[in-house]
Amino acid sequence: MKPVDTRCPNCNASGMDVFYEVKDIPGHSCLMLDDRRAALEYPKRDLSLGFCRVCGFISNVIFDARVLEYSARYEEQQSFSPRFRAFQTELIARLIEQYDMRDKDVVEIGCGKGDFLLELCEMGRNRGVGIDPACEPERMQGRGDGRVHFIRDFYSDRCSELPCDFLCCRHTLEHIHSTNEFVGLTRKVVGDRRDMIVFFEVPAVERVLGEAAFWDIYYEHCSYFSLGSLARVFRANRFEISELATDFDDQYLLIVARPVDKPTAPLLPEEDDLEQITHDVADFSVKVMDLISTWRSRVIAFREGGKRIAVWGSGSKCVAFLSTVGVASEIETVVDINPYRQVKWLPGSGKQVAAPESLRVTPVDVILVMNPIYCEEIRRDLDAMGVSAKLVPV
Ligand SMILES: [Zn+2]
Repeated sequence: MKPVDTRCPNCNASGMDVFYEVKDIPGHSCLMLDDRRAALEYPKRDLSLGFCRVCGFISNVIFDARVLEYSARYEEQQSFSPRFRAFQTELIARLIEQYDMRDKDVVEIGCGKGDFLLELCEMGRNRGVGIDPACEPERMQGRGDGRVHFIRDFYSDRCSELPCDFLCCRHTLEHIHSTNEFVGLTRKVVGDRRDMIVFFEVPAVERVLGEAAFWDIYYEHCSYFSLGSLARVFRANRFEISELATDFDDQYLLIVARPVDKPTAPLLPEEDDLEQITHDVADFSVKVMDLISTWRSRVIAFREGGKRIAVWGSGSKCVAFLSTVGVASEIETVVDINPYRQVKWLPGSGKQVAAPESLRVTPVDVILVMNPIYCEEIRRDLDAMGVSAKLVPV
C-alpha cells in the first residue's frame, strides 16, 4: 500500500492508498483496429489503483481520459451470447413488473448499440431515447417499432429536456473518472421530477478482489464499485435507494434510486461493507502477483507440452489478460461470437479475432474461456462443430 496525495473522485476525501499497478497496457480494450500494426502501436498507459478508506471506492489515480475514444470503432455488444441475452431479458421483465414500466418514457445513458433499450421498449411498449457516442442506429434498424431514437453524443445537462420516467445507465459509470460529479449531473438532470426511477448497473469489485481477477482491471475501467461505495455516491447526491443487489453470478451490481431533497443516510445492510472491502483490498494485493505468474507458467507449460491454445472472448478481459500476463505470443488464436469483432485486431497484443468456426480448420488443444459463465454455451457450440478442445476457465 502506497499512500498518494489525491482526492477520492467518489467522495472527495483526501488521500488514497495505491495497491496495484500495471505498466504499459493498451489505453483501450474494446476498440477494434483494422490492421496488426495499428493494434501493436496503439497508445499504452500505466494504471495505478488507489483505494479510498473513507468510502471504499477504487480508482485509477493516474487515469488520463484523453486516451479514450468512444466511436463506431468501439465494439462492446454482448448480446450475441444466449446466456447474456437470457440475463438481459429476465432483468427487463423484472424491471417492467416491479416498477410498472409500461407505456413510459425511458432514457438510457451510454446505451451502446441499444439492445437493452430496444428490448425494454418492445416488451413494455415504452418510448426510448438512447445516448451514446458509439451508438450505431443503423445496426438495429427495424427494431423498437419506431418508438426508440438514438443520439450519438455524450450525456450532458441538455438531457434534462427529454421526457423521462425511467433513467438507466448500464456499464458506463465505471468508465467515468469523476463519479461523484457524474451522479451529481444525473441528479441535476432529474431535477424536480420526483417520480423518476434511476437505474444503474456496474461491474462488482467484490468479485474482482475476491478472485484477484486482474483480467477485469483495464484502462477503460477507471472506477471500481462495491455495493457500499455505489450506494454512498448516490446517497450523497440526494437519492434514496430502493434496491441494491448483485446479479449475473455476482459479477454485476444493480442500484435503483429515487430523487429526494437531501443526502440520505445508509439504511441497507449491504451498504455496510467498508471493513470487508478494506480487508479484500489488502488480500488482493498479496494474491495478485502470484496469480499472474501462475497463469504465465500455466500457459507456457501448455506450449511446452505441445498444446495449441485459443482464447474464447476477445473483449476487455482478453486484452487485459494477454497484456498483464504477457503471453500473447503463446496464443494461437482468439475467437469471438460477435461478428463485428471478427477479422479485426486487438489493441496491445496485435492478435486478430477469428470466428469460432475457424477452430474447425485451425484446431487447438486448449481454449482459455475469459468468462466461466459462458462455459456451457461454448461447450455446446464446440460439440456442434465437432471440436473437442479442453475448456480452461480463467
Ligand atoms: Zn471515497
